[in-house]
Amino acid sequence: MNELPGVGPRIERALGELGISSLADLITHYPSRHEDLSNVRKISELRVGERATVLARVTGTRPVGRPVRGRYPGFTAQLYDGTGYIPAVVWGRHWLQGQLVPGARVVASGEVQRRYGIQLAVRNIELLDGEEGNAGPHAGRFVPVYPANRHIPPRRIRTLVHRALSLAGRILDPLPAGLLARQRLPALHDAIHEMHFPHDRRSLQAAMRRLVFQELFLIQAALAARKAHAARYERGRSHAGDGSLLNPYLEGLPFGFTKAQQRVLEEILRDMRSERPMRRLLQGDVGSGKTAVAVAALLTAVEAGGQGALMAPTEVLAEQHYLSISGALADLPVRVVLLTGSQGAARRREALEALRSGEAQIAVGTHALIQKEVDFRDLSLVVVDEQHRFGVGQRTTIREKGRTPDTLIMTATPIPRTLSLTLYGDLEVSVIDELPPGRKPVQTRLVPLARREEAYEEVRRELEKGRQAYVICPLVEESEALEEVRAAEELYEELRREIFPGRSVGLLHGRMRPQEKREAMAAFREGETEVLVATVVVEVGVDVPNASVIVIEGAERFGLSQLHQLRGRVCRGTHPPKCLLVADPATEEAGRRLEALVEHQDGFRLSEVDLAIRGEGTLFGSRQSGVPDLKVAKLLRDVEILVEARREAFDLVAGDPSLRDPLHRPLRREIREVLGHDVEWLFRE
Ligand code: ADP
Ligand code: MG
Repeated sequence: MNELPGVGPRIERALGELGISSLADLITHYPSRHEDLSNVRKISELRVGERATVLARVTGTRPVGRPVRGRYPGFTAQLYDGTGYIPAVVWGRHWLQGQLVPGARVVASGEVQRRYGIQLAVRNIELLDGEEGNAGPHAGRFVPVYPANRHIPPRRIRTLVHRALSLAGRILDPLPAGLLARQRLPALHDAIHEMHFPHDRRSLQAAMRRLVFQELFLIQAALAARKAHAARYERGRSHAGDGSLLNPYLEGLPFGFTKAQQRVLEEILRDMRSERPMRRLLQGDVGSGKTAVAVAALLTAVEAGGQGALMAPTEVLAEQHYLSISGALADLPVRVVLLTGSQGAARRREALEALRSGEAQIAVGTHALIQKEVDFRDLSLVVVDEQHRFGVGQRTTIREKGRTPDTLIMTATPIPRTLSLTLYGDLEVSVIDELPPGRKPVQTRLVPLARREEAYEEVRRELEKGRQAYVICPLVEESEALEEVRAAEELYEELRREIFPGRSVGLLHGRMRPQEKREAMAAFREGETEVLVATVVVEVGVDVPNASVIVIEGAERFGLSQLHQLRGRVCRGTHPPKCLLVADPATEEAGRRLEALVEHQDGFRLSEVDLAIRGEGTLFGSRQSGVPDLKVAKLLRDVEILVEARREAFDLVAGDPSLRDPLHRPLRREIREVLGHDVEWLFRE
């Protein structure tokens, strides 16, 4: 940054807070929007209720409101533009008051309101340089407005970006010329300049498209290269299963696989037979039978003399998978062990030893499975049940535990296509697009807390008909184990004594001993327990067809995909199932989540709604998600560009798998620059 005049230590620190530490960071610190000065209005013509931008001079400022701890909540700047005066009210942003000295030229935008005459409720106000008509960074038709903080005003950033652009000279284009021509994209140099200081709306849009395209293209090229790399260099095991475990397992199931399950299992087995390591994503809605397919794959690994691991995102899910898988395999000569962070030392040691010696063939666990001391004799298949909770990094670690084992990733809730192409774009995809026969849509209803009794009235009616019910306890932070137990026991007591006296009520929570859990589940399955009070432990793996109603207490605290999973517990039987969400959503977001659930049954649709509600920021902000931070692209908005970028990227890599062509050198450099250590393998080749 030293080469940039006007950047001292204070500004450097302020820029650092915005994530800007180099000239390149600065010129890619894009404006969040542009102030369109061609839409400037005359003050004398402003009308109440409209949004408007004015160009004016400050004639004075004064504080407004009542001071709190010596500070006023805002201030008014009196503005004059030659046609009239208007007070512009600014809430917060106190530091601006000192800058808006009489005579200062500003551009201000906001809503025109009536309060003792009219006023402008300011959304954005900024100082402009010099005299009308001057050229320069602040005087074009579209003035960029930058994400800023209180230590550095947007205007200052604008000046710095302007200088940085002229210092940067011609910006090298990482995308091949042929691609640009084909996709009608402007050169990077022009796009970056237009992005900051556009000539008009159209060139701004073209610039935007170019930058979005590039951002997505780099990711897709890296995914394509990773896939090509794996195909060329990774050797795995060819699993030659003889059916000695798989066939009895399939025959022992109380149902036959759906067409979709059969097709998907065939795809998986084909991969497993091949010497190339499997890298496959298994998508399917809640209850579509993914776990059953995964177990078939695990057995095939064991038949071929290997070992399998199933990794779940939480302890509770791991335990549930463990219980249901060891149950399903009880009659087969296969030993399944559980590995979680919280299990006792003795049990853990025993499990570790059994995996090392090969005496246990299948491990079920959490991330505890990928810790250093876990040694497998011959790990050859890894199944990850991930529900968007693992990052790519963790996936890689467990794969390295075997000699490139086959990998199958299950997403319990289908995810939007754009997201899956970004997160999993290097994987083959199998989709279970069919539910087992007889699944019915679940009537879902929102019940306000004050009318909670109605939910239990509904449950009573079901019990009268001989059905069973789940009641789910409000969610407690996973760290607060004791709190979870207390809440569950309290609800259990309330139901047993006050709400359903004379009915048999059972309890199931994550802190019970495995034996107790098994007994609680068995009693419910057998129908001895009519109402099961449970924590989210029933989220997966629990399957009682006679249960026809689920009440979810404190539903506003659960995530959408979790609610969808829970609701999936009651769509197994032949009776019209019901789901009652007892909730007083405190936030708008929670309200929208619950409404979505009432409206949609389809997990795929729900996943899109979820993404829209949560916003992409929360989903992709964290490194955990495994998606590189996106600066300009938006996965919901830019689906079409993504599809094009992906096609182009895969075409390019098909002709140059390790990006060695001198023509692709700038591209290669840019991928490394942007994706960093995530792509180191590409440069080790
Ligand atoms: P997922 O993991 O996709 O949510 P599971 O594999 O847990 O689904 O299956 C959900 C329930 O449906 C399980 O209890 C399972 O026994 C049952 N199931 C799986 N496949 C079928 C099928 N083809 N027909 C009937 N029931 C099935
Ligand atoms: Mg499942």
